[in-house]
Amino acid sequence: MKIAILPGDGIGPEIVEQAVNVLQALGEKFELETAPVGGAGYAAHGHPLPEGTLKLAKEADAVLFGAVGDYQYDSLERALRPEQAILGLRKNLGLFANLRPAILYPELAGASTLKPEVVSGLDILIIRELTGDIYFGQPRGVRIAPDGAFKGEREGFDTMRYAESEIRRIAHVAFQAAQKRDKRLTSVDKANVLETFQFWKDIVTEVHKDYPDVALEHMYVDNAAMQLVRAPKKFDVIVTGNMFGDILSDAAAMLTGSIGMLPSASLDANNKGLYEPSHGSAPDIAGKGIANPLATILSAAMMLRFSLDKAEQAERIENAVKKVLAQGLRTADIYEAGTTKVGTKEMGAAVVKALG
Ligand code: NAD
Repeated sequence: MKIAILPGDGIGPEIVEQAVNVLQALGEKFELETAPVGGAGYAAHGHPLPEGTLKLAKEADAVLFGAVGDYQYDSLERALRPEQAILGLRKNLGLFANLRPAILYPELAGASTLKPEVVSGLDILIIRELTGDIYFGQPRGVRIAPDGAFKGEREGFDTMRYAESEIRRIAHVAFQAAQKRDKRLTSVDKANVLETFQFWKDIVTEVHKDYPDVALEHMYVDNAAMQLVRAPKKFDVIVTGNMFGDILSDAAAMLTGSIGMLPSASLDANNKGLYEPSHGSAPDIAGKGIANPLATILSAAMMLRFSLDKAEQAERIENAVKKVLAQGLRTADIYEAGTTKVGTKEMGAAVVKALG
């Protein structure tokens, strides 16, 4: 089993190091190969997704990714910015389904900005379509407006679009995920305003015929945002498009108190995947040894479950994370009075120890 390790920028290398330590402590024979990506890719090879890195990612059975981005690269032209590496990997590997669980561990109920009774026990899964929508639609750009009320002025424009097969495949992923959970799926759209999302709603409704055991509801994205902070436990699985999913999954992340706790998986049609924490490269705390490595460690657990067919090892890691939280160990982002503050390395080492 070959795993491509792409640490990236900012806190990426620090947190990925801990996840690698955990993987190596499992007693499995993994072949791990590391390559630069993002700003590190640009610094080493003049491109955020160097050819060698992409080749490694394609060859590997799974990719463990840290995070990319740093202020020092903000002035580069868009195509060379670190964040382009993620878009390039998603496109080149055909990673169209992003799975983000948002789970609130009972020990961390106090870390959420919402009242404990609203969030404790939260366990939802957000499935975001990753390779379509307005993020990839053509044409796009800045031009002189050809018509309309602002004709002749400069205008920025993008194109929102979804092909039928794109909606069908993400809907299948979502219904199947719901079948393995509480069998409830909420499809989030903006069908009242956008043609693309009326079409989305129609296709999801058609795919539902294949999954009569799953209860399907449709919800407008503005209402979904409201419900996520009002009564998040009402949801089981949410499926939505690329842009709405981008925003809603970050909101869901914050329900749990810290973005440093949340893993994610991006899968292709064969369950090959890229696994990364839901957060970014956190340049504000990079190099300080205080980043929370648990989202990355839990991403490695998702990798074992979804791409490497090692569900038992995934559970070992998840149980070890629960154990260190129960022991009262906390990185700064989830620290509360009465618990023990630890750094990135100590947290990683505690998880390794808790594997048993
Ligand atoms: P961010 O997620 O990096 O940071 C937001 C806040 O959360 C910061 O205060 C940060 O210190 C904190 N934080 C994030 N991860 C943490 C962790 N593991 N432990 C403790 N605290 C943590 O988002 P941002 O500040 O908007 O973006 C910073 C850079 O990351 C930008 O260059 C952005 O483009 C990039 N980014 C990359 C990805 C990715 O690689 N997938 C995703 C989002 C943002």
